Amino acid sequence: MSVLPRLLALLACTLAASLACAATPRIAHLDLDVMLDPESRHFRAVAQLVAPGEFRFVLHAALSVSTASADGKPIAAVPIHRDGDFQEWRLPAPAGAALRIEYGGTLPVLDRALDHRGVLGAMPPMASAEGSFLHSGSGWYPRPAARFSYWVRLSLPGEQRGLVAGRLAAEEVPREGGGRYTAAFEFEQPADGIDLMAGPYVVREKLVPRRHTEPLRLRTYFYRNLDALAEDYLEDSRRYIELYSEQIGAYPFTGFSIVASPLPTGFGMPTLTYIGTQVLRLPFIRGTSLGHEVLHNWWGNGVYADYATGNWSEGLTTFMADYFYKERDSAVAAREMRLAWLRDFAAVPAGEHRPLTAFRSRTHGADAAVGYGKAAMVFFMLRDTIGEDAFHRGIRLFWEQHKFKAASWDDLRAASEQAAGRPLDTFFGQWLQRAGGPALGIARAGAQTVDGKTKLALTFTQTAPAYTLRVPVEIVTGGRSQTRWIALERERQVVTLELDALPEGVRLDPELRLWRVLDREQLPPILRQWIIARAPRLAIVSPGADVTLAAQTLARSFLEAPAKIMEPGQTMDGSEPTLLIGLQSDIDAALAQLGLPPRPEMVTGRGSAQVWTVHNGNSGAPIAVVSARDAASLTALLRPLPHYGAQSYLVFDGSRAIQRGIWPAPGRLIAVTR
Ligand SMILES: [Zn+2]
Repeated sequence: MSVLPRLLALLACTLAASLACAATPRIAHLDLDVMLDPESRHFRAVAQLVAPGEFRFVLHAALSVSTASADGKPIAAVPIHRDGDFQEWRLPAPAGAALRIEYGGTLPVLDRALDHRGVLGAMPPMASAEGSFLHSGSGWYPRPAARFSYWVRLSLPGEQRGLVAGRLAAEEVPREGGGRYTAAFEFEQPADGIDLMAGPYVVREKLVPRRHTEPLRLRTYFYRNLDALAEDYLEDSRRYIELYSEQIGAYPFTGFSIVASPLPTGFGMPTLTYIGTQVLRLPFIRGTSLGHEVLHNWWGNGVYADYATGNWSEGLTTFMADYFYKERDSAVAAREMRLAWLRDFAAVPAGEHRPLTAFRSRTHGADAAVGYGKAAMVFFMLRDTIGEDAFHRGIRLFWEQHKFKAASWDDLRAASEQAAGRPLDTFFGQWLQRAGGPALGIARAGAQTVDGKTKLALTFTQTAPAYTLRVPVEIVTGGRSQTRWIALERERQVVTLELDALPEGVRLDPELRLWRVLDREQLPPILRQWIIARAPRLAIVSPGADVTLAAQTLARSFLEAPAKIMEPGQTMDGSEPTLLIGLQSDIDAALAQLGLPPRPEMVTGRGSAQVWTVHNGNSGAPIAVVSARDAASLTALLRPLPHYGAQSYLVFDGSRAIQRGIWPAPGRLIAVTR
């Protein structure tokens, strides 16, 4: 898709210079009549818009302009520049003329081979009877140079249903046995593209009354075999919209749809989300991803991220959706998510650290660790810094001030400052503009009692140049804990606290409330370390051809890199993550023989298979174990296991995970010297 941004940039320059642009401050408007026959992939459309002067636009090479006119007079559409699958067209017309462009062709067939990485790349506009997806950047309509409002009228064969983002303005469903399905959609806010989806969908609808305005139209466009899930999706969407309307401000659109995709997509557009059929069936999607996509109607599609200065919208959405749900569950679940962010960050080599202001969108893991994890943690720390009330006031102010406009991190800072009533430039400056994070430590903790008063002196260290921080310290006295917040601003700083009694020890930020480089002992081993290992090793500890085959197949689907097979009796030295697979009694014997800790209590005596990472201190190869009742129980893990990279241990019953978790790893207790 490299050609599009370049061409659009080119067009924007042409436009900015044109008189029409200066004379019409209103946003551009595009009117589209679309006729699609998914089976034959035949596509025809009529586009109407006001000419900005000479109009240049890009269409996918499968489509071409048949006729064009300006104010009713025919004009010649000239193909001028071809780049890969994209053809640039030029229409000479006076500024302000009413343009009418008829175009069409046969669309490429839906590519069922696209995997979840493939759908993040450039996709052509694709059609088929089982589903059509005309991506906003695929060149299926003449795109105005800047954000634009639109009307789309869509005509499909009778058994097909389809939609674009926007308000459903009209709809005609054919009677049994003939006619076409037609629907019209209006999008009056500034859009930056149009995505069109169609398929043999069953449409379910829920109208939710709203005060002073039309009811909210919630819809599912699901395949027949997903129909049983529709009601739950509608009800959960309603709850999410209600939740965020209360937290932020009224939902800015008239409807929300969940659309099933034949591709493994997970896209959020304004007013809808387009989710792969397989994914829609997963039980946790309604609990997390759906809320995340609903919230993007405020952050990203309601207030736009000003990409030039960094994309804040994924971080804020992750914080107010994914993280908020964990916090609502329990403090333990919330801490686990903060640990996951810090762990992902710890896995990024220091040379690849980039400041948050450089984040645009997720392209690889290192970007996600910053753009999602660090950004979400910045909002978490902001709330700790200015307090819950000011934080929420700031969020509401930000929404009111920037609805349907582009906004930057600076705008977020300004709204938070207004709510908190104090400057926050140091806070935002260090977390946004600096790459990486501080490595924090307590170098010395000493206490003494003088004249009946106990004084605890803590020597803090942090990497240079120092961050300005408020650091929570847990003080353990007689088995009881209290937390003190300490302000730090130097690389080495001694802080003295007055206490009632002599403490035994202290822990630095045990709840992981600060973005920082974690110590190794705070990172309990999780399965992802094996999944992404560059040179993993595999030891199969049970004999028998069926077990060997099942174990090898499992290792291939679980590990991203091919595993080196270990010979029986080979020692487990070195530092390469090693996967031990076998039947239950053989696994227990192998662990004893290797001098490793026995099967942990959490995974003993339950299920048909158990998976766990071994705590073997800081020496020897990291070891993960897959223990199963029989070969079939191993094979049952093929599909589910790769999805559980964030866990330390799991118990499976067949292919269903019935227990899972992360090994506890509280911050190290630092003994207090007397
Ligand atoms: Zn998102």
